[in-house]
Amino acid sequence: MTTVIDTGLLDDVKRFGAADVSACFSCGNCTAICPLADNAGQFPRRIIRYAQVGMKEELVSAKELWTCYHCGLCSQTCPTKADPGGFMAAARRYAIASYDKSRLARVLYTRPVLGSVIAALLALVFGLFFYSAHGPAPAGQLRLFDFVPEPLIHYTGLAVMVVVAVAGIAGIVTMAVRIARVQGVTWQLLLGSREARARTGRALWTTIGAEVLGQRRYRADCAEPQAAEPLWRRRWLVHAATMYGFLGLLAATLADYGLALIGVRKTGAPVPVWYPTRLLGTIAGLALMYGVTVFIINRIRKVNEAARESAPSDWLLLALLWLTGLTGFLLELGLYVPHGTAFGYWVLLAHVSVAMDLILLAPFMKLAHAMYRPVALFFYELAAGQGTRAS
Ligand code: SF4
Ligand code: SF4
Repeated sequence: MTTVIDTGLLDDVKRFGAADVSACFSCGNCTAICPLADNAGQFPRRIIRYAQVGMKEELVSAKELWTCYHCGLCSQTCPTKADPGGFMAAARRYAIASYDKSRLARVLYTRPVLGSVIAALLALVFGLFFYSAHGPAPAGQLRLFDFVPEPLIHYTGLAVMVVVAVAGIAGIVTMAVRIARVQGVTWQLLLGSREARARTGRALWTTIGAEVLGQRRYRADCAEPQAAEPLWRRRWLVHAATMYGFLGLLAATLADYGLALIGVRKTGAPVPVWYPTRLLGTIAGLALMYGVTVFIINRIRKVNEAARESAPSDWLLLALLWLTGLTGFLLELGLYVPHGTAFGYWVLLAHVSVAMDLILLAPFMKLAHAMYRPVALFFYELAAGQGTRAS
């Protein structure tokens, strides 16, 4: 691969929140101490070097960007205070923006005021759109879908999901093609023989089962930097609560819709609090609120290295997640408490508007790591299976 040098690369990555790493003299302390770097010279030193010398393509094609979980050990031991852990986080933001052809991610990351205005305006547009179709708001029992028709929410949600799927798939393909090119992965190598298919299957399983669902590296390999934290505040646990809360809410919504499709119950019809999908939604909502609230408190109190510096885009994501969770709970409260109708209809408007806003912006903000990290980890596991992890 021909190396193209971009002399403005380091300055550009700095716009995504990176500390000034020009003082880094490649001593390698950071790589030596990193609990997740398992080959000499891999990261974060090599990634910093790419930025210093302007190797843009190599930087955004580095799967190692995503094998860092920002524990901060390297930043604590860097003799020049170059904050390599913070640099890796900024480089991931830079990579997300480079996979996104619409340039919306770049705006959200580098122009926080404009990004926040865009997010607020989107929520407002969704709110006005749903309000423009509103029906009666009967007192007594909350009849949410009399107020905002359920098909309108459903089809708007589908349209949002289509946009997210197109943007997500485009980003994933861009990233995968780049990593595959750098790593020399071909279709033949992936699926060309029985052995290749078995290796690909194992890499997929390790990525999805052990890494994404089991949080193996985050939980086990990153254990030492988290050991001093009380269990309830350990990053892997807080991250798992947020992730499973989000997935649980999605599953409860889909299950509700599925039950309505097969005629078991009408969407939005009142159900007791112990009804399985309602129970799943409540537990998942609690997990999400716990995770997001602890993340926010950690960042306000700067309790660990990862929480020491917060980019505006971190706050935007946490705010959208927290508002979505909060309005979801208030909505549930409105269904079960007397006089809940007094605020329930307005909470519904707020909830669907913020939730649609969050989902629509997901591929362009930090939440996009949920799709990019597994891709990188897959290539990482694949290389391990081939015995060529060091690219
Ligand atoms: S970031 Fe710091 S620890 Fe890492 S190679 Fe550079 S100077 Fe050394
Ligand atoms: S922040 Fe932690 S995981 Fe990331 S490179 Fe530094 S030591 Fe490794």
